[in-house]
Amino acid sequence: MTAPDVEKLFRVALVSTPWPLFNRPSIQLGALKAYLSCELPDVGVSALHFYLPVAAQIGYGLYQALCERTWLAESVYAALLHPQRLPQIGLLFRREAAGNADLAGVDFAGLVARVGRVSESLVEKVDWRRFGLVGFSLSLCQLTASLYFIRQVRRAAPEAFVVVGGSTFSGAPARRLVEEVPEIDAVVQGEGELPLAAMAAQLSRRGRLESLPAGVVTRQGPGSEAGFSQLPDLRRLPAPDYDDYFAQLAGMPAQRRFFATLPVEASRGCWWRRKARSNRPSGCAFCNLNLQWEGYRRKDAAQVAGEVAHLSRRHQLLSLAFMDNVLPMDGAAEMFERLAALGMDFKFFAEIRAGFPLESLRAMAAAGVEEVQVGIEALSTRLLRRLNKGTSAIENLEIMKNCEALGIRSRSNLILHFPGSDDRDVAETLATLEYAAVFRPLRVVGFWLGLGSPVWADPGTYGITRLGNHRHWRTLFPEDVWRRLDFMIQAYRGDRVRQRRLWRPVREKVRQWRRTYGALHEGGQRGPILTFRDGGDFLILRQRRLGKKPMVHRLKGASRQVYLFCGHRRPFERIAARFPRISEKQLHDFLEGMVAMKLAFREGDRYLSLAVPHRPVAARSALNERAACAKAP
Ligand code: SF4
Repeated sequence: MTAPDVEKLFRVALVSTPWPLFNRPSIQLGALKAYLSCELPDVGVSALHFYLPVAAQIGYGLYQALCERTWLAESVYAALLHPQRLPQIGLLFRREAAGNADLAGVDFAGLVARVGRVSESLVEKVDWRRFGLVGFSLSLCQLTASLYFIRQVRRAAPEAFVVVGGSTFSGAPARRLVEEVPEIDAVVQGEGELPLAAMAAQLSRRGRLESLPAGVVTRQGPGSEAGFSQLPDLRRLPAPDYDDYFAQLAGMPAQRRFFATLPVEASRGCWWRRKARSNRPSGCAFCNLNLQWEGYRRKDAAQVAGEVAHLSRRHQLLSLAFMDNVLPMDGAAEMFERLAALGMDFKFFAEIRAGFPLESLRAMAAAGVEEVQVGIEALSTRLLRRLNKGTSAIENLEIMKNCEALGIRSRSNLILHFPGSDDRDVAETLATLEYAAVFRPLRVVGFWLGLGSPVWADPGTYGITRLGNHRHWRTLFPEDVWRRLDFMIQAYRGDRVRQRRLWRPVREKVRQWRRTYGALHEGGQRGPILTFRDGGDFLILRQRRLGKKPMVHRLKGASRQVYLFCGHRRPFERIAARFPRISEKQLHDFLEGMVAMKLAFREGDRYLSLAVPHRPVAARSALNERAACAKAP
């Protein structure tokens, strides 16, 4: 393995191929480039965002529609890798694209040809012999595209050292990938900073790899026993370097330029997954998002605020997306308070868990978080236990309500067809949906089995009898490759037909929910469906209804106080202790009356009122739950 001696400066190319979101630079490339540039100042690093010119060529709308669906995205480069399979891949593409208005009339063969032309020209424009090391970041939907570009780059620069890293291959699958694809020299298992820097240092100084750094898998070297080699903490990580992406964007014709979103990260891994102490796979049962991390690390609030300010000012942009699998719970309020204190009019997106405290959500809203994805996943506590979410239906309703109150858009999922779920889970979900209907609707997603997830690792517990690669991979790859590689999306034998039948009523109910919510927010109608106005010693509740006059209720005196006290879920005992002058019978009857009118939700002995303040909470700090509680007798 010898690096080319074409010039003195050793160069590394980092490549991200389609299909990440086109309007963001790659955080993987940005973080790696920044780290390598700091640690190895004599090494030149170029970050090549190939997905950006591909998106610009085929049109941003079409690119977006493709990148949202794995099988559509993977089909395009699969057909370029294996042109003889174009007819069957085209069939798969058309089946998956059916019903998608953005893809109606797309000629698959024509699309493949266009993508092929732009991809070839991208490869041709680069003098690959300048690079001693070429690294590919391989994450969701980037498998076939990366394999295509790896093949092309290998042809153009036979002597370059080609490395693959990312979340798609780790452990035994990493070893099988490097054995299967001769153009790849090594796979980095886990995060890339340390292994890549170690390889670049050796290649630049000695022209070859004399010893294999930890975390690196090669044909000759270790497999899964390569282990991980990651930064002990994230303080050593500089802010991501996105200059190459913005130089590419600036070089485009004016009509193709846009205001990009800046990705940032506050943590790596998942604190919820780390919490479990046993040897069993931990974290949410369906999740395989954390295979490339060992443990959990986070940056402190000052570091995050500093990076956000730096990136925003450098690129003159205010839209940012936190790329963390899930935002840290500890320290989140401080982090967003620091961001708010910057006095910049940010717009953030972030992913959070349902237990995120109201105070932290308030700080988020004040700092500019406009959209979140909450790990809701289910509205049945029984099923949430099976999913190992560590949350409950009432907790999920509470965060949906808090987002509504703060004007934060929640685009969160409801997972259907989870193996082993039963009619009681479905019945509980349907019952909770009656109450969730006043909040922003969830998005229904069918369960899919992820390689390395707890369900995959312990299939028997979930009634799964056989596992293997999903059959669509057999359409995209030759049969022998399909048999040898381990793909991220797996197939299983279990109760899938039963699950589809069981969850049909939920699917239909969510459809209705979406229709009603949409209609209630049409034509300039905005704001939450169920709200209250506080008159100090009375409360007016108002519920907007489709095709009917709003329903209005007045709660006076103690009723008002009890209702506000239940703004946060409370056990009956706590409510009774808070209002000792009200008899338990009266209290119980009042709360049950609220539940019967769907103005409050009850789970077990816990109650949660559902109405949100008429005006967004963030704008009216006086009207918060604490103030209301303080005034209670
Ligand atoms: S789904 Fe989210 S919270 Fe659950 S284990 Fe995965 S990253 Fe963690």
